[in-house]
Amino acid sequence: MAKQQSHPAQAPNLKSHNTARTVHTPGTNGNAHATYGVTHKLALFTALDTITISSQVQIDKGAVVISTLGKWLHPHEKLRRVWPYYYDPTKKRLFVRTSAGFSQHRYNCLQPTVQRVITTLPQLCYRVECFEGHYGFYVPRGQHNVLEESRPPTPACFQDFLDSQPGWSRDMLCTLESNFSYEEIASKLRESQHHPSSACDGSVANNQGTFGWSMNLKNGTTIIEGSGPAYGLPMDSYRAEAYGKCSILQFLFLLREYYDLTLAPMQVYCDNEALVKNVNKAREQSRPQFPNDALKVSWDVLQAVVRLAKLLPQITFHHIRGHQDTQVVLDELSRPAKLNVQADKLAGSYQCLSSHKNIQAPMMDGTNCHLIYDGQTVASKHRKHIRDHRRTKELKTYIKQKTGMSEAAFFADIDWQSHERSVNTFKDGPHIFLVKFLHGWLPVGKLVSRYNLIKYPSACPSCDEPVEDSKHFLTCLNPERSKWHATLTTSLWHRCESVDTNPALLDLLLWGLNHWLQGAPIPAHRVPERIAHLLHSQTSIGWDNFLLGRWSKHWTTLQLQYLQRNHIEVKKKNHGLSWSSNIIRLMWDHCYKEWKTRNSARHGKYVEDKAQRRLETAHRGIRDLYDLKPRCSLQAQQHYFYPTVEDHFCRDTDARSLENWLETYQPMIMQNIRHQRNNSDRRLRQIDDVFHLIRTVPPRDPTPTMAPRQRTPTLTTRPINTYFRPHRITSPTPTLETPTTTARTTSTSYNPTTTAPRPP
Ligand SMILES: [Zn+2]
Repeated sequence: MAKQQSHPAQAPNLKSHNTARTVHTPGTNGNAHATYGVTHKLALFTALDTITISSQVQIDKGAVVISTLGKWLHPHEKLRRVWPYYYDPTKKRLFVRTSAGFSQHRYNCLQPTVQRVITTLPQLCYRVECFEGHYGFYVPRGQHNVLEESRPPTPACFQDFLDSQPGWSRDMLCTLESNFSYEEIASKLRESQHHPSSACDGSVANNQGTFGWSMNLKNGTTIIEGSGPAYGLPMDSYRAEAYGKCSILQFLFLLREYYDLTLAPMQVYCDNEALVKNVNKAREQSRPQFPNDALKVSWDVLQAVVRLAKLLPQITFHHIRGHQDTQVVLDELSRPAKLNVQADKLAGSYQCLSSHKNIQAPMMDGTNCHLIYDGQTVASKHRKHIRDHRRTKELKTYIKQKTGMSEAAFFADIDWQSHERSVNTFKDGPHIFLVKFLHGWLPVGKLVSRYNLIKYPSACPSCDEPVEDSKHFLTCLNPERSKWHATLTTSLWHRCESVDTNPALLDLLLWGLNHWLQGAPIPAHRVPERIAHLLHSQTSIGWDNFLLGRWSKHWTTLQLQYLQRNHIEVKKKNHGLSWSSNIIRLMWDHCYKEWKTRNSARHGKYVEDKAQRRLETAHRGIRDLYDLKPRCSLQAQQHYFYPTVEDHFCRDTDARSLENWLETYQPMIMQNIRHQRNNSDRRLRQIDDVFHLIRTVPPRDPTPTMAPRQRTPTLTTRPINTYFRPHRITSPTPTLETPTTTARTTSTSYNPTTTAPRPP
């Protein structure tokens, strides 16, 4: 990073102040190859890590610098390291760093020469090595100045000065229009009696942003106007207007720098209130920028605006309501409102001239880093973009496998942009419905019955279909449920007519949907030949996927061709993503309404209805469990069930009690049945086969209370002979004198609860 020059032999009575220096070469002319001690070698290696070694420098294997290092590569203010001595060759003064700044001395003088203390060094200073003697400072000869940097030529005019700025600044000021010269503009902005004002506005079309701004004087004279591109995705009016504001400030800043003028106070108006608030708030902040600040929306432009605003304290920012010319005649508008209208026109004009949507944003001063995604600068929602980038591939693979589409159909044919736009702009129902609908996760009978067949039947709630799946939910032939087919068709027809849809496309759209809903194939020979490739493409994708918004790319292409062929004005709504997503959202809206209809059929529509459905569901579940009663053990039958299901319903009449009973006893009953089945498979005899039940379980209320039911202690703690006596008695027949003897005899003859072998 730095090069060092040799110094002459040290004077005997001089004390070295060069403790910070690490590289030394002995001898004035550098001819002698002196060998350094270990300490010096280590220091040399350390220094060489940071030294840019030119071809003039030679170092032998012993790490000794052979030739001189030459001039310093960088001026002192660009180095991180603090240096104690600086020399100004123009005035021949030495500056010594002190706690208060720099003391100024004449060097090579035998008298104390402290003159005054300064805080900022002259620009042409360079670092020197110095020794302090008894009578002053001594600077060895032969120290080198800073290398001359190749400085750009001084701009001949302000336009040259603009052209010499970095790329982002040139983009900001790429289109400046004025009837005045820059000198005249500078003089007008210097005089405060002119009361200059300015306004900016942004324009966004198809994710491409532009800005425009206008500046005028109190008498209404427009002195200069500007417009240009706004970069980054996602583009919105906030970002586009921030670009406009940055452009005004950059112009004023450069004008001030070039003409060395003091700007008059100026108001800058903007119709984005959030931007005005954010800039004013950030401008007053004194804290440094934190790394997390970079995650703010459009931070790169915002920090540039704030940085320039701090440099131009006479500029103030205000909010103005935009597009006031739609309600009031232009001449009657206030001055800021007129400026805003003018800025809006400039931004719109530049929108028609430019196509820069896919260009990466140039990095502004102070930004330091950009997140680039698919070649685009990400302006906001950084975390979401990173998550999307990480997971989109896996998600698409999952959808492809689930739908069974071919690789070509999935990746090449489907218009994913229309699908994405539709998902992002769907507002007619909850987002969770859309996610489940698109991925086939709606809780239809087929799906929920997997969790609990007794509680959730798999049958359709509206017809006799035994299994209700995602397709049947849409194609159910119940008269009430199938009404939506006609409603959907009518709505689609009206919507497509209103957005100049190609009649052939409209026919195919309605035709394809109706055939899919009725489960019939589309007769391809009836489709016009010019859209046959569309039919082929959409059929390979699937018409069920058509309803899910996975359209072929040919839909939008053919629509645009139709508009151009018939000289129909191409508007925002009748082509491209807006057109396709508009129709897709309409279909999803009808699907959501049909889902609500289906849920009414399943759970009831009104309060009484819902209570009745709830009771019926509980009855059905309990009846199913009573059907399983014979498969339970005798104990379980007595413990869990009433004698008959009718008795149960007489005892518990409300839905809540029945649901509680189901929640509590269904797992136990099912576990008992599994246990019984396992024992049967292993040919283990049941205890009921060996013992008669001689004592019943004390009657209990099967309806659980709110507190968890305690297991009846009598079943486990009392001796088994409390309840049973043996069917048959193994020989020799013992004398059954007491119950204790009986129990002992029984346990030695056969105990079904142990795995010990039966005694011979
Ligand atoms: Zn049905």
